[in-house]
Amino acid sequence: MEFRTATVVAKRLRQLGFELHLGRSVLKPEARVGLPPDVQLAEAYDSARRGGADPDLLRAFEFGFTAVVGVLHGTAPGPTTAIRFDLDALPIPEDATDAHAPYRGGYASVHAGCMHACGHDAHVAIGLGLARVLSEIRDALKGTVRLVFQPAEEGGRGAKAMVEAGAVDGVDHLIAIHIGMGLASGHLAPRTVGFLASAKFDVDFVGDMAHAGARPESGANALLAAAQAALGLHALPRHHAGRTRVNVGALQAGAGRNVIADKAKLVGELRGDDDAIVDYLIARARAVVDGAAIAHGVAATLQLVGRTTVADSDAVLAQSIVDAVQGVPGLSADAHPYPAYGSEDATYLMQRVQANGGDAVYCVVGSDLAADHHTPRFDIDETVLEPAIGALAKAVLALGASGPRLLPTS
Ligand SMILES: [Zn+2]
Ligand SMILES: [Zn+2]
Repeated sequence: MEFRTATVVAKRLRQLGFELHLGRSVLKPEARVGLPPDVQLAEAYDSARRGGADPDLLRAFEFGFTAVVGVLHGTAPGPTTAIRFDLDALPIPEDATDAHAPYRGGYASVHAGCMHACGHDAHVAIGLGLARVLSEIRDALKGTVRLVFQPAEEGGRGAKAMVEAGAVDGVDHLIAIHIGMGLASGHLAPRTVGFLASAKFDVDFVGDMAHAGARPESGANALLAAAQAALGLHALPRHHAGRTRVNVGALQAGAGRNVIADKAKLVGELRGDDDAIVDYLIARARAVVDGAAIAHGVAATLQLVGRTTVADSDAVLAQSIVDAVQGVPGLSADAHPYPAYGSEDATYLMQRVQANGGDAVYCVVGSDLAADHHTPRFDIDETVLEPAIGALAKAVLALGASGPRLLPTS
């Protein structure tokens, strides 16, 4: 639903002389999962149009194809360096008290129930700042820069469809960035490791309503099936080969106090140290859901709505970034492995680039945070934005100058 954001990004990149690849050309339709309902997409599209989004650019994103890739060719041959920025926000109501600086300062979210609680707005700001700097120093630039603006990172729904559209094919070096993640302001950690693979799923239970006092036996209780499934999912046998996580994050069910519930919806996620462990958890989760449905005589449908995989940052590329950013004021960097505790679908982009013979890193831009990621008072330290732009510009220049392409031109 990042219609307006994608339009702002595309417009700015075009002004700066970047070649644009928008929508379906960088986001494969059949590879998308977990889309919002059509009516919600249409509302968000209209809201962007009413909000003054450039109508010509906006059209490329209709039906949720909110991906933008900007390409800038240097003045001499060299490798292709891609940088990934994600665009999306979270369904969290932003804190509306004076304790929250964005509210106090008048720049909190204007979309009710929706906020940038993970810092992806900072990523977009860094991406557009970098685009400006690169356009200014184009004469010194060797090789090609590809700025990849990805939708739907939260929930693991955007990156895979970009990979399948070829958005990172032909990339020699990929840098995915993220702000915060426990790293203090003034530091850069370009060698993040340890993301968990994950699968996000929704389950719909459908039973039959009945009068809870008069004829409870004639109903089929979707609420009880969902509740039993929630407990069963959290009790899934774990796996010897690595870490696992299970979470049922929301459960809605029922119609009224004296009615046998005919509907329930459960949303959850499964995580593990690799894809095989996640596949194992998915298979067991299906069995638990089916078992609970049979026990209560209801129908259940489990749908996978997001997926992330695993990828580790390449040490050599991380070291090249560390070397390149020496001397950026207000920034220190090192190439020690930096542990991640979550999941990221940038891992699909990294995996593709690495499988093609290129290298990739996930680079954390340190920022002191007012509150944790994914909470209503999340807020970044904005003084880190400018050094991050400087660091990425230096890294792009150095990688461009570092030698011939690793990969054949696609
Ligand atoms: Zn994030
Ligand atoms: Zn997040």
